[in-house]
Amino acid sequence: MTEHSSHFIGVDLGGTSLKGGLLSLDGTVKSELVKRTPVEEGREGILRELFTLIEELLEISVDDHVRAIGIGSAGRIDPVTGTVLYATDNLPGWTGTPLSELVEGRFGLPAFVDNDVNAAAIGETWMGLRDTVFTSSIMFISLGTGVGGAIVHKGGIIHGANGGAGEVGHILLVPGGHPCNCGQNGCLEQYGSGTALNRIARNIEPEWNSHILLKQCTEGEPRAVRAVEGFAADLAAGIISIRNMLDPHKFIIGGGLVDSHDVWWGYLRSKLDALSGQQTMLEVAQLGNRAGLIGAAKLALDGIARISGSWK
Ligand SMILES: [Zn+2]
Repeated sequence: MTEHSSHFIGVDLGGTSLKGGLLSLDGTVKSELVKRTPVEEGREGILRELFTLIEELLEISVDDHVRAIGIGSAGRIDPVTGTVLYATDNLPGWTGTPLSELVEGRFGLPAFVDNDVNAAAIGETWMGLRDTVFTSSIMFISLGTGVGGAIVHKGGIIHGANGGAGEVGHILLVPGGHPCNCGQNGCLEQYGSGTALNRIARNIEPEWNSHILLKQCTEGEPRAVRAVEGFAADLAAGIISIRNMLDPHKFIIGGGLVDSHDVWWGYLRSKLDALSGQQTMLEVAQLGNRAGLIGAAKLALDGIARISGSWK
């Protein structure tokens, strides 16, 4: 068995779907499967679908030697034990699940688990930026329903004391501002997410949503342009605070909102320049919704390398 026949399974486990891939050592996705996350069945149902997904990928792999399984899961994860420390109601019953242990017990393969946004950040650094020498400090920000974040430093994730490092969605942007589901008021997530953009749209016209707002902005509707400028200014303020704390080589911006980045990217750039004299390196994420499964496979690859001592 040569090193080059080694393959890895990566799974992106979220509240809506389970995305799995079979990847070769060089990061090529050889097969991909998607399943719906049966959240209504709680932990048991989620685990059943996860196991089925992995089984199907193992069947597809046939002659390819699968060395390990990586999982990027929503929630706060202990990356050492692979246990879910905390998950919101998006994954009911998921808190406390010893995910690595269960997957290893079921398949007899090493399993490595981290948070889904951390996995996406690893994926973007590996196959998006192709930073294979891992010299960079990267701040990954995911703009979707919420605002997620991950700090990649020299190829590894910075986790913090409780797995919560990089949770930039809950930076306080407006003290006493909009209430956030984390218990604080005025978090960045309340101003820079897709959910926030929907609220901003409804405040202009009750029947508007973020899509209509962005379309109106493109067409030059003055209220829409002002609103998107305000959204970009809030996002820029958050990014500048993060930059001053972390001094990353660059920011990679991913998540669902990136699909419409051609509308707001220019505003964000000009707000960054207007609010700060310093240069901020900003890039659009490259891997779309595959970043998580690709990064999860990289977690498995790195985990095996660590165990076997062949690297690092
Ligand atoms: Zn918050």
